[in-house]
Amino acid sequence: MIRARQSTFRRQLLLQLRLFSSSPAPPPPSSPSDKIIFKREESANDYNLIPTYPPRPSFESFSNPLHPLSQTVVFDGAPDDPYKPSSTPLYQTSTFQQPDATSFGKYDYTRSGNPTRTALEKQVAMLEGARAGFAFTSGMAALACLTRLLNHGEEMLVCDDVYGGMWRLLNKVTNRQGITHRFVNTSDVEAVVEALGPNTRLVHVETPSNPMMSITDLKALADALRPRGVMLSVDATMMTPMMMRPLDLGVDVVVHSGTKFISGHADTMGGVLLTRDPEIEQTIAFFQNAEGTALAPFDCWLFLRGIKTLALRVERQCSNAQIVVKHLQNHDAIKTMYWPGKIMLGHPKSGIPDNQIQVHCNQTNLFGDEGGNSLISFCTGSEKISQRFVEACKILKITVSFGSCNSLVELPTAMSHASIDPELCKVPKDLVRLSIGIEDVRDVIDDIDQALKFALELEEEEVMAGEEGENGRFDSKFEELPRTPAAPAR
Ligand code: PLP
Repeated sequence: MIRARQSTFRRQLLLQLRLFSSSPAPPPPSSPSDKIIFKREESANDYNLIPTYPPRPSFESFSNPLHPLSQTVVFDGAPDDPYKPSSTPLYQTSTFQQPDATSFGKYDYTRSGNPTRTALEKQVAMLEGARAGFAFTSGMAALACLTRLLNHGEEMLVCDDVYGGMWRLLNKVTNRQGITHRFVNTSDVEAVVEALGPNTRLVHVETPSNPMMSITDLKALADALRPRGVMLSVDATMMTPMMMRPLDLGVDVVVHSGTKFISGHADTMGGVLLTRDPEIEQTIAFFQNAEGTALAPFDCWLFLRGIKTLALRVERQCSNAQIVVKHLQNHDAIKTMYWPGKIMLGHPKSGIPDNQIQVHCNQTNLFGDEGGNSLISFCTGSEKISQRFVEACKILKITVSFGSCNSLVELPTAMSHASIDPELCKVPKDLVRLSIGIEDVRDVIDDIDQALKFALELEEEEVMAGEEGENGRFDSKFEELPRTPAAPAR
């Protein structure tokens, strides 16, 4: 019996070995569409007019009837691969062989196009309902490319609570290229329309804004700008396509810092631009290739991996955040709270006007009309208490950025928004920003509670002693208490 089984096994093994040695790997697919011939002599002698990826992928007709949450996992990133891999292959290559010296295959050079990047761009475009998506080396590279939509002498209007890096880009880079900007309160659509000048070409907003959570009514603003020939872009990093689809609301370009939720694991940098407009698509494609700012294949692969759990993470992070908000709403240490969810409507500590919270609830969809998100900002009324709170957290890590699995804490004026001229910065110095992760929320709340208690106790001690410990930092007698890492270098 045993011998019979052994010989069957040997026969199978031999058969398999023979199969492996006699049959070569199946040839790569060679459908006519793979042999895209783009002859140099047909390009009006201008090499720059050759499409960067012949043809540049357009996802206009690409649809998926599944719900967005399913679309994060039910996605074939390599439909042409003969081996039908479950995970999109990583095409870690800079070049692709060409059919001959004067014509191109589907891909020729990774700066211009790479199948792993196409898969990522396709999936994000699908999630956002875009015609085209472009993956960049960082959110800032994506934002820089966005400003390429403007020519010398043209102007941008920008929401007045914008991410510090964007502030720096506008004030130190694009202004040198002759592109001007003015900051406006984009929560007030009429004020934006009034502010439009003859050279205004683009209005750029964040909603919720970072870190003050101002809300802009995207549909109302898009409806007001379209007849005036002004484009609208939104940095929707905080929302992800799981919570809001700005292109459906009439926005022309969506930006994400993929470093946040799309990666989700604080291990990759990247950014995306998405649009439905063919002209904008062509401009972005041209500049992405001309300036070499496209995301590298391995990072695209990590993003594709991250997207598989995007829906789960965002759902969990937002519901955790709602529990934290409920817990903090009436905490004595919190003076003002910025969180655009229904449970803050009419709350005396809400820093966001009710009408803005209502707009946010209407234009987001993950939790019906509950609104919210996974970031929470609050003021304690004292810069020192806020700093001590941040430094006393143990589970919440002190880092810039947001949207990762771990809960994070920061002081925006000292960290993420430090590049804004302090004279012009509207963010209060005692503002703390939390990014809630996927931990058991009870541990997150315990950590916040102990850190607040610690910060408040120190305040009392300080008042009694009349002065702080050495160098303005905690006295050594507290060394048994939570870790107090040095303040981040500025
Ligand atoms: N947009 C927002 C809202 C951000 O918070 C950030 C970074 O924190 C960026 C864009 C820039 O993204 P990145 O850091 O990936 O360049």
